[in-house]
Formats: sequence, structure tokens, C-alpha cells
Amino acid sequence: METFDYVIIGAGSAGSVLANRLSEDATARICVLEAGPSDWHPYIHLPAGFIKTFHMKSVNWAYQQEVGPWTGGRSIYAPRGKTLGGSSSINGHIYNRGQRQDFDTWAQLGNRGWGYPDVLPYFKRLERRVGEGDETYRGRDGNLTVTTMDWQDPLCEAFMHGAISLGIPKNPDYNGAIQEGVSYAQRTIKNGLRVSAATAFLHPARKRPNVNVRTHAHVTNIVFEGKRAVGVRYMKGGKGGVPTEVRANKEVILSGGTYNSPQLLQLSGVGSPELLKSHGIEVRHALPGVGEGLQDHYAPRSVARVKNIQTINELRRGLSLWVEALKWATTRRGLLSLSPTMVYCFWHSGETTESSDLQLTFTPASYKEGVQGQLEDQPGMTVASWQQRPESRGYVRIRSADPFAPPIIQTNYLAEELDRRVVVAGMKLARRLLGSVPLAPYFAHEDFPGPNVQSDDEFLAAATQRGTTTFHPGCTCRMGPADSSWAVVDDQLRVHGLQGLRVIDASIMPRMISANLNASTLMIADKASDMIRGRTAPEAVKFAETA
Ligand SMILES: Cc1cc2nc3c(=O)[nH]c(=O)nc-3n(C[C@H](O)[C@H](O)[C@H](O)COP(=O)(O)OP(=O)(O)OC[C@H]3O[C@@H](n4cnc5c(N)ncnc54)[C@H](O)[C@@H]3O)c2cc1C
Repeated sequence: METFDYVIIGAGSAGSVLANRLSEDATARICVLEAGPSDWHPYIHLPAGFIKTFHMKSVNWAYQQEVGPWTGGRSIYAPRGKTLGGSSSINGHIYNRGQRQDFDTWAQLGNRGWGYPDVLPYFKRLERRVGEGDETYRGRDGNLTVTTMDWQDPLCEAFMHGAISLGIPKNPDYNGAIQEGVSYAQRTIKNGLRVSAATAFLHPARKRPNVNVRTHAHVTNIVFEGKRAVGVRYMKGGKGGVPTEVRANKEVILSGGTYNSPQLLQLSGVGSPELLKSHGIEVRHALPGVGEGLQDHYAPRSVARVKNIQTINELRRGLSLWVEALKWATTRRGLLSLSPTMVYCFWHSGETTESSDLQLTFTPASYKEGVQGQLEDQPGMTVASWQQRPESRGYVRIRSADPFAPPIIQTNYLAEELDRRVVVAGMKLARRLLGSVPLAPYFAHEDFPGPNVQSDDEFLAAATQRGTTTFHPGCTCRMGPADSSWAVVDDQLRVHGLQGLRVIDASIMPRMISANLNASTLMIADKASDMIRGRTAPEAVKFAETA
């Protein structure tokens, strides 16, 4: 039997950072198992390829969620990366860390060492910020290049002036001291190419002799001896492939992401005894929190028709597209180097709200049925708006004992009253932004939700008809104290009650943060790598008011 020190399940955002950091120790032997293929496909690396990989089943798990109580009878599509780099290889490139309060809340829930002053050094260590940024907050020497949108678009400019006209200030760095405000988006794009976790962390690590990365290796279960994880079984070649087993001397690290990590624990007999027994799975370790607590951001996308100017809808067609392709090939700039959203705006839903609870994005483009993936034919612009810290929670549960069956994903969007109120407030703000004076020369009319929608109930009805995920699921293997009913891992990310097994990915977040999740998932993995290696954590940042 092949034996390594560490076996990492999943080469996504977290798995890539872990492979890099753990292999810095030349004596440690690391095996990374990834269900998907290598990340060779050009659409992964071309930023505008997002629109293609969004539905490309060869590199995407392409899950469907269950119909929710507030999704108007719709099953919402849930893309997830299935290739080296995981979801960071198909995501929208946005770099957004969240607010201080997000991580302080994690610490307040009983997780020592996870407050903002503790996690900030890891955000800094990971990144190579190109452009504006206060050194207290931004890193300049890491592997992850973070740039700011450099495509000056008249519609984006007008949108930002519109926000300013409504009292929303321009913010030079939403990843700095304060998140609130409006600005061009910061992206993980370098020289017109995507910087995935694989590009930044995994590929450099693969040059080391102690890293062994296996693609098309679909892990089917974790192998235990008593309460200790000692290895994993996987299908070499995927479904119908060759059953193979590898052993881990030190630890098995589960980094399969928010949907697949709880699924794999359940398939391995770790979870709610009732659920496991109902599928004929022997209970190895009862842990009812596994898969429970799923959170995500739910976004209705408001659309307006545009006049007097070209939008991306037209530029991505016919001759214009060829011109743009040539521009990208020769300069690495232009339309094909763009991310799906360009301007970011953070604001609050009410005057008494403690910190920004709304995130809005602007794109000078519009999509069929409001779902990113297929551009509309006529000129359009879109404002997606979502509540940053929803309270609604759902779950991920196995559908059957078959490791190749997709899990049941029920996010329960908008189940809590507060969430419904804040989402409606976000849509109303989106309408004000689209109707602002600086955008007036280009604003033809509101297409969705449309002028007939006026009351809160009508806005809510529209949100349930057309809202979609913003692709930020988390919180299904939550980090928390052993005596809580919901926690799956402790604050060292070790699975409660088991040995030799950690979960390290977006699923460990105890509560949703005010951000897209890639940056914080990378941070989680970097911090965990220090814990695994027994290294002292970097000194917590001392802010003026806490010094
Ligand atoms: C379409 C889309 C757009 C997004 N846009 C943004 C954005 O602009 N900015 C941002 O910050 N975040 C964005 N996100 C979210 C962000 O990319 C993810 O939250 C983050 O990448 C999650 O990292 P992870 O390590 O938890 O999981 P992943 O990166 O998904 O990695 C999990 C890996 O495990 C592998 N795996 C799963 N099960 C098995 C198994 N049984 N055996 C072997 N391997 C397995 C998967 O194939 C995958 O490679 C987006 C996500 C998507 C899908």
C-alpha cells in the first residue's frame, strides 16, 4: 500500500494552498487527490472563459439545488469547480475578504485565534497586491496576484457617479480599513490571465519532489482504524475506474468544498446516525452537525435596457468579438480579460445597521433569465444585490450510499424574515442606482423587476422568481466548540471525536461572511497549514484602538 504523510482530498482553493505550504517541509510526503482533470483548458485561464466553464461539465460538478421554500418552485443551478484549482478555476475572479466583524464573530462563537487581528496576517501573507492599498492591510510578497479592474467603461463610470450622487462614497480599497463604498472590483487576474489557487500555489508546489498530484481520482470514502483516519479509497479514472487505496501516516485532510466535504464524511459513516442508517451506512462516528447549517448569498439581478452606448452584449458578438480576441492575443487587455462583474458597491440596508449588510455589483451586460452564462441580444446592464450575512440555513445530505450520486443541496434561501427584508432593501437600492442622474443618458427602462413592481411584497415576489446563487456556499462542517450541537471541527479544524482527520475548506466557516469566499478560503488553508506543521502563528495585528 502506498503511504504518504498527508493525503489531501481535493485540489481546490484550500487544497492547493495546503499542498504548497505542507510541502515546504522537504521531509513531508504529500498526496493530493482530485476528482476532476488537469486545468489545461484555455477557457479556465481566459477571464471571459467564465461564461463557458459555468456550464462545462468536464470541469464543473454542475449541481442542482432542491427547490426551496422561497425560490418560486425553481431548482437553482449550483456550479462548482472540478479540476485543479477547484472553484477558483471557474470563479468570477473577484478578490474580496470581508469585514473585520465577520471574523470577530467567528472568534466570539468560541474559536480561539480566528478574530480579525489573527487572520489578517494570513490574508497579507497570501497576496501580492498590485496597486493601491495601505500596508497595514495589504500584502505585497505573496503568490496570489490581486489587481484592480483596468478597463475604463463609461457605463461603469456613470454607475459609480450615480452611487456617489446617492451618498455612497468612493472607496479606494474595500479590502482595507473600511468596506463600505463604491469602486472598481479587485480581481485575481495577472497579465490578462486568471490566477487560480492552482496557478498561484499548486503548480509551484508540484515542482517539488515530495508532492504527488493525482487527477481523475474520485475519493469514495475515508478509511478508519477505530476512531483514527488512516487513509482514503478512491476510484482511479473516476466512475467505473480502478479502486485504489492510499494511506496517511500523519493526517487525512478533507478539502472537497462545501458540498462534497460533508458528503464524503457521511459516506464514510460520520454524521447524523438517522441519516446514515436510512442509507444503510454503518455509523462510524455520530456527529449530527455534518452537512447542517449551509449558507449562501442569494441575489436577484435587476436589469435595465440601455440606449446611446454599446454594452458587452453587443461587443461579444460577430466582428467586435474578433477585434476583442485580437486585442487580447496581442495586449492581454480588452473585453476578454474582464471578469463577469466590474464595479463593487457595499452599503447598508438601514440607518441603524451596524456595518454594510448589502453587496451590489454592476456589469454593463445582461444575461438571459438573469443567470450568468448566456448574454442577452439587446443592450443591457445589471445590478446584482444581495444580503451579506444571511440568517437562513439549509443542509447538504447524501442522496444515497453511491459516492457518485450528487448530494441533496437545500439552502433554504430567504427562510428567515430578516433575509427577506434585506433582500428587498437591496433591490430597492439597485433601482435607485440604475435610475440615478449620471446614468440617465444611458438608461432606457427597467426590464427586471420592472416598473409595475412597487410594494415590498411585489419586490419579494420578484426576488423569489428570479434570484440565484452568487456561488458562495459555506458552513456545512462548522468550526466550533465540542459542546455545541452544530460544530463539526474544533478551532484547529480537527474533526470532533476523531483523530488524524481535519476538514479545511469553505465548509468550516461557522457563519457566512460579507464577501465572496475565495480569499477567506485561502486564508483558512494557510492558517491551518501552520497548525498542522506546529508553526507559531504570525503575531496578531495591533490596531490603534486595541493597542
Ligand atoms: C461560478 C463561481 C463563481 C465564483 N465567483 C467567485 C468570485 O468571483 N470570488 C470569490 O471570492 N469567490 C467566488 N466563488 C467562490 C469560491 O471560488 C469558492 O468559495 C472557493 O473556491 C471554495 O474553495 P474550496 O477549497 O472550499 O472548494 P473548491 O475550490 O470547490 O475545491 C474543492 C475541490 O475538491 C474536489 N473534490 C470534491 N469532491 C471530491 C472527491 N470525492 N474526490 C476528489 N476530489 C474531490 C473538487 O473537484 C474541487 O477541485 C465562485 C464560485 C463559483 C463556482
